Amino acid sequence: MTRQTAFTSNLLLWYRKNARDLPWRQTSDPYKIWISEVMLQQTTVTAATPYYQRWIKLFPDVQSVARAPLQKLLHTWQGLGYYQRAKNIHRAAKLIVENFEGQLPSAPDQLRTLPGFGPYTTGAVMSIAFGKRHPIVDANVRRVVMRILLIHGKATSAHDCRILNFLEEHMPHKNISSFNQALMELGALVCRSRTPQCQLCPERKICQAYQHGKEEIIPTPQTKPLEDVHAVIAVIRRGQKVFIQQRPEKGLLAGLWEFPGGKIDPGETKLGALKRELREELFVDLKSVQHLLDIRHFYTKYRVHLSAWNCVVNPEPRADEKHRWVTRAQLKQYPMPAANLRIIEQVFTGPQR
Ligand code: SF4
Repeated sequence: MTRQTAFTSNLLLWYRKNARDLPWRQTSDPYKIWISEVMLQQTTVTAATPYYQRWIKLFPDVQSVARAPLQKLLHTWQGLGYYQRAKNIHRAAKLIVENFEGQLPSAPDQLRTLPGFGPYTTGAVMSIAFGKRHPIVDANVRRVVMRILLIHGKATSAHDCRILNFLEEHMPHKNISSFNQALMELGALVCRSRTPQCQLCPERKICQAYQHGKEEIIPTPQTKPLEDVHAVIAVIRRGQKVFIQQRPEKGLLAGLWEFPGGKIDPGETKLGALKRELREELFVDLKSVQHLLDIRHFYTKYRVHLSAWNCVVNPEPRADEKHRWVTRAQLKQYPMPAANLRIIEQVFTGPQR
C-alpha cells in the first residue's frame, strides 16, 4: 500500500475540519449522491440545496423517478436550468429499473451506458458512492491543480491529462470519497476563482502559483463576451387565466412551457415583433397592448433582454395539446423557464387590467 503524500494528508486534514455540512454528505445512498452530483454541475451549492431537498422528498428512490411523468420531474427542476440533466435522470432511472433491478450499478462500464453519465458523473458516483479509486476533474479541481502545478492558460480540458497524472499520484487507496470531495471543497471555499484565500490554504507550501505570486492569473481569466438576445413576450389573459404554450421537443429549453413571443429581428421594433410573433405562432392579430415589465436574464452564454406586454388579441387563441389556458394554481403543473416565472409574479401580483 502506498503511503499518503504530504499533499493528501494536508488536504484530508483540512477537509475534516472545514467540510460543509451538506445534505448529500449525510447519505451513502448512491441514488441520492448521483442526484446531488448532477444538480451541482453548472449550479452552486447554495442554489442546488433546496432543489435537492425537494427532489429527494418527492422522489426518494430510482423507482419513483422512473414512474414519474417527465413533466413532473421538469417542474421540480424548474429554475435550475440545463433541463437536459433532468431528462437524462428520467431516462437513466428507467434503464436502471429495467436492467439493474433499480440499483445503480457499481461497475464504471455499466454506469457509462446510462444517459448523462459522462466522465465526471461516472467518476463522482464511483468514488463518492462506491468508494472506488476514480479521479474526478470539475472546474474547482482543474483550477486548484493548475495553480499547484503552475499550468498557464485557460481552464479547459486541454490540461486534464497533466491534472489526472497529478491526481493519480496523490489519490489515496482509502478515503477516496473524501479525497475527491476535499479537492472540490478546497476549490469552492479557498482556492476560489477570483479571490483565492491562500492564507487559509493547507497546500500553499507546495503551490507553485502561490510561490510565484501568480494565483490571481492562473488559470487565465475567462473573458468570453455574452451574446445579447432581445425578445418580446405576450401575456394574453381571459379572466383569471393566462395563455401558455409548450416549446418544441428539441432545442433550447425543449418541452418547457412559456408565454407566446420570440426574438426581435434586426431592425424590428418591440411592437412589430409582438405582432409578427402572434401572427406566426397563434394566427391572431394584436388589438391593443400595455407594457408589463422588462427583465434581464442570464442563460448559458446569453444575456436575454425580455420585454413582456399585456396583449389583447383577436380571435382568442384556442387551447389544444400544446396550448393551454391556465390559472395561477394550475401553472404549478407546467414547468417553465426561470425568466417566465418572474413574469408570472408580475402578472398575478401587479396591477390587473
Ligand atoms: S495556495 Fe492559493 S492558489 Fe495555491 S492552491 Fe492554495 S488557495 Fe489555491
